[in-house]
Amino acid sequence: MKGCYIMKKEVKEKLNHVKEHITKIEELNKLLALAYWDMKVSMPKKALEQRSNTLGYLSGEMFKLSTGDEVKGFIEYFMPIFDKLSVIDKAMIRNLKKNYDETKKIPEQRYKEFTIATSLSEAAWEEAREKDDFKTFEPHLEKMVKFQREFAEYYGYEENKYDALLANYEEGMTVKKLDIIFGELKEGILNILDYIKNSDKKINKDFLEGKFKIKKQKKLSLFLLDKIKFDMEAGRLDETTHPFTTDFGNKDVRITTHYHENDLLSNVFSVIHEGGHGLYEQHISDELIGTGLEHGTSMGIHESQSRFYENIIGRSKEFLKVMLPFIKDEFSNMKNVKLDKFYEAVNYVKPSLIRTEADELTYSLHVIIRYEIEKQLINGEIEVKDLPRIWNEKYLEYLGVEPKTDSEGILQDMHWSAGNFGYFPSYALGNVYGGQFLNKILEENKDAIKNLVDGDLSYINNWLSDNIHKHGAIYTPEDLIKKVTGEKISTKYFLTYLEDKYKSIY
Ligand code: ZN
Repeated sequence: MKGCYIMKKEVKEKLNHVKEHITKIEELNKLLALAYWDMKVSMPKKALEQRSNTLGYLSGEMFKLSTGDEVKGFIEYFMPIFDKLSVIDKAMIRNLKKNYDETKKIPEQRYKEFTIATSLSEAAWEEAREKDDFKTFEPHLEKMVKFQREFAEYYGYEENKYDALLANYEEGMTVKKLDIIFGELKEGILNILDYIKNSDKKINKDFLEGKFKIKKQKKLSLFLLDKIKFDMEAGRLDETTHPFTTDFGNKDVRITTHYHENDLLSNVFSVIHEGGHGLYEQHISDELIGTGLEHGTSMGIHESQSRFYENIIGRSKEFLKVMLPFIKDEFSNMKNVKLDKFYEAVNYVKPSLIRTEADELTYSLHVIIRYEIEKQLINGEIEVKDLPRIWNEKYLEYLGVEPKTDSEGILQDMHWSAGNFGYFPSYALGNVYGGQFLNKILEENKDAIKNLVDGDLSYINNWLSDNIHKHGAIYTPEDLIKKVTGEKISTKYFLTYLEDKYKSIY
């Protein structure tokens, strides 16, 4: 009995040491995120190189804390008694070990070089995009690809080199699984697209062509965030060219959006999308602070939440009914728009060149194109210099449109400039997961979406919070989906949702 008591006390103390150590890592992580957020939101242009060095230094310190002997000691201590730990402690140790193993695999010097090269590459991408000149970015992209091919070898993989990078964003995901998921998705979407092409339904969206004062759009952003219950006392909204979300804990979640005077909807759906990411982070349980689990569990699950709010809720007739009166009040050119017409215009399907402006139906095709390119690029089957041509060919083949310039083609996304290979699939996976969650919600309450007409998102918010958000990174994406829906990942529900929605519109 006594021995058992001592053991327990010792384990408890050791767990506290682990939490103290993770807290140090998390605090540094917040500083790193803050320096990055500031770089994107308000840093003067000339500070780029100095800021890159700051980011490089902080990453180096993070690296040391995550891979030091202290962490090694924790892992050695806990692995033999792993099964005796609580669910949260198990997840905490598993996560600590995963980060240790992964980070340790990359030589410190190479990682630091990569961080610095990344800031320069991001800046080169922005310049290239402004000048509409791929050549300006090409050498930097070559460097990024080289780093990622090298890192994939360090991480290790069983079947496909690209698996090593996928795992960074979606634990458990592989090329083998994705080829099936994306194969089904592509086929299903192309079928619906065919149906739409053959429909003689005409959708009028002329009323969206006017000018929409930025000041009023900003008011609308706050209205929308209030409707989805994003907590402005635990977050804020700023403006950047490319919207994103970051957080320094669940009490400080920062989202950004962009405004275009001639485009009302771009901001509307960016705000709701980033707001969805933000809600995930804000709803994470306080109980997880200091465990390293106080983050979304994967990029795919994160995108499932942002895209759920953006599309399944945001583009539903029920939510548009809440939004439209506010829009009519603010923008006189929208005064006579009827809800049915607004709903159709918002869900208008047209294959286009820019992923972030794509309609809900064709969006996943943009992602699948990037996935196919990344997979080949990382495996050395194609090279950077061939990318503009390959990109344009694939757009023509899948979407029937061809970019005339680099800016509306290969240069449109910032991900590759930041060395983020393996990230893109998360967006389309998010769609798939979202469809699966929707099905489960409707199984439990068939009126969950219908009831949104009153503008009350409590039921949906609470459901997502209880089932997904509050758990942070306790469960892997695969385990979470199984736990929430009782099933493995399946494209069936998202495709049914798309088919029902778009066949009723067209
Ligand atoms: Zn997102």
